[in-house]
Amino acid sequence: MIKKILIALALLIIIGICVVVFYVADQVDAGFNPTYIEKPYSFTERSVKLLERLDFVGDMHCDAMMWQRNMNKRHNFGHVDIPRLQEGNIAFQAFTMVTKSPDGLNNDTNDANSDRITGLVIGQAKPISTWFSLFARAKNQCNRLRRAANNNEFFSLIGSKGEFEQFLEKRKQNRKHVGAFLGAEGGHCLEGNIENVQKLFDLGVRMFGPTHFFDNELGGSAHGVKKDGLTPFGKNVIREMDRLGMIIDISHSSSKIIKDIVSMTDRPIITSHTGVDGTCPSNRNLSDEELQLIAQSGGLVGIGFFELATCANTIQSIVDAMLYTKKIIGVEYICLGSDFDGTVNTPFDATGLPLLIESMLENGFTEEEIRLIMGENLKQFFLKNLPD
Ligand SMILES: [Zn+2]
Repeated sequence: MIKKILIALALLIIIGICVVVFYVADQVDAGFNPTYIEKPYSFTERSVKLLERLDFVGDMHCDAMMWQRNMNKRHNFGHVDIPRLQEGNIAFQAFTMVTKSPDGLNNDTNDANSDRITGLVIGQAKPISTWFSLFARAKNQCNRLRRAANNNEFFSLIGSKGEFEQFLEKRKQNRKHVGAFLGAEGGHCLEGNIENVQKLFDLGVRMFGPTHFFDNELGGSAHGVKKDGLTPFGKNVIREMDRLGMIIDISHSSSKIIKDIVSMTDRPIITSHTGVDGTCPSNRNLSDEELQLIAQSGGLVGIGFFELATCANTIQSIVDAMLYTKKIIGVEYICLGSDFDGTVNTPFDATGLPLLIESMLENGFTEEEIRLIMGENLKQFFLKNLPD
């Protein structure tokens, strides 16, 4: 009798886990990554035609790997998957990895004592190693994206200038080709071990931000408690990134870290997803001085599509951040940094760029400027700055 009860109990637990993985995980995903404009989107003809004329559109930030979606399948929730990138004429998407995120996450002060991602990876029935190790979480996300690329002839991970050039050739033949690389949001996934920088590089990580929402072993977050500069370990990580040619992403870094990085490297620094103080003053956004530092380094400013970056849930607020950045440093440093699937409410998913293009036209951006912001700046940056 007891044996039967135990078997029944075990079956119930297994069924419960399946329900969580296949149903609740998708519900959670859909709930955290909404859009505020409903489909079907109403595009103007001129914006659709202009998007069609662009040969390279790219986006420097999405957190889609945090969720359980199969990237090769189309979904009717969340923001990004390969079919929707293809439909939206997006040639390149950076996939960034979130490995730890505090409870009660806020813009001003978060400590490192809590973590919402642990519950998420358990709920998604990820390998047990990922329940306890931040590095294992990063590795799992890298491997999942690589598997998606291995199973899709039109989707490639790009690791070098040569691979990027090959990708551009393939895309000339067929616009269904989508390229990507991986980035890390926060160096806590290194678990304090400098050798893990090389390991992440080997797994395909080409962009790396020292901190996310809380201070870590590398230094202070813009939203942390102390907001310090780089620690000695953080400086070693930047040196290792310089050696490997990894792109330095200062999104979420404290102002002190930004200054520290600029003083120790000659390479360009970028923000993969941000707003600007000029239109939305905030801890996470860039001051005019920081915009100048990025421009002087030859970097890029990826303008985010979400309220924390632009202070409003409107497309106009995204375009306002672009206009302001153009005024301070010029249009050649601006790119897209949507933060798709980053637990944010965005205007549209990966298929909705004509809505942004229309607003840019209405606000006086020329077609050439739109071409630069939508992807040409990013393309030139990769041709110059990806590792050989
Ligand atoms: Zn972020």
